[in-house]
Amino acid sequence: MRARGEASERPPVSSDGFATHSRDVNERSIRSAIRSAFIEAHSAKLRATGEFTRLLATPRVHFVYLHHVFEDETANFRRTLEEIGKTHQYVSYSKAVELVYSGKVDRPYACVSFDDGLKTTLAASRVMDELGISGCFFVCPAIVGELDREMVRRFAETRLRYPPMDVLSWPDIEDMLARGHEIGSHTFSHPNMGEVSVEQAIDELQLSAEAIRRRIGGVKHFAWPSGKWANFSARAGKAVFDLGYESCASAIRGCHMPRSFEVQPRDVCFRRDHIMGSWPLHHNMYFLARSVLLASGNDYEWPNEWRSIVRTERHPVAASSTPSAGRTMLAVPAH
Ligand SMILES: [Zn+2]
Repeated sequence: MRARGEASERPPVSSDGFATHSRDVNERSIRSAIRSAFIEAHSAKLRATGEFTRLLATPRVHFVYLHHVFEDETANFRRTLEEIGKTHQYVSYSKAVELVYSGKVDRPYACVSFDDGLKTTLAASRVMDELGISGCFFVCPAIVGELDREMVRRFAETRLRYPPMDVLSWPDIEDMLARGHEIGSHTFSHPNMGEVSVEQAIDELQLSAEAIRRRIGGVKHFAWPSGKWANFSARAGKAVFDLGYESCASAIRGCHMPRSFEVQPRDVCFRRDHIMGSWPLHHNMYFLARSVLLASGNDYEWPNEWRSIVRTERHPVAASSTPSAGRTMLAVPAH
């Protein structure tokens, strides 16, 4: 999640400090007001020229993601999904990943995911059921099912750097799976992966995969916390694939354009556009249009200086000499 804005200084509504409404977590700073005015102006300009419609109709795979959908955000969340659905075909996260690797993208596709495993996403998944959309929920096993509110509060303050919110339980997650949604890994305990040691980064990736696999049988997709380049590293990116994950996602804005050639999982760092149920519908749509406007076609790639590291597959012999050997995700029995 993003760092708390000035709004964090206001007392939250619930008596124990847990956020229960969008106003408990939303920024209301001068900076966000200026950003909002800019979006209004740029969006109006794109609409006036017909550019907005053309951008949204452009063939590509567009990943959008959210953190929470409070009750007061639900109606606008639904409207946003319906609006995206007018011009895009929704696909599951796994299908979206497959489309990007193949490069064969013949129309606008959209895919919805959620980070952090917050309780409000359970209701969001039911809204998506009604609209026939399968989502992917990136969770941190360290906090899944935590009922001790002090623990959740500490996790929120030190890891999410956001007001505390209720979290999903394993039965919630199993319920989502049974309804056709997917579960991804968001590390074990939501550290800043750009600041931890390589060993810690590997442990975070591995413990998370093991915990999810033990509980639900498998995990294919990973999205790193906070999602900027500064919150990750080339070695962590390499470890994602060494440990058997099939995709790695950022929270860097962008979308994935058609390509005339296939790429391998290690070649791709997925871009995702952050949207929010509390943002005006046309702001959410603006972020999609803007990503198409700025798309270069090769912005699925890792930064130049990371590319060769992420793409180097772990040699089986070399792997057996490392301390982590034998603790790979694939070695953990599902039960
Ligand atoms: Zn997160």
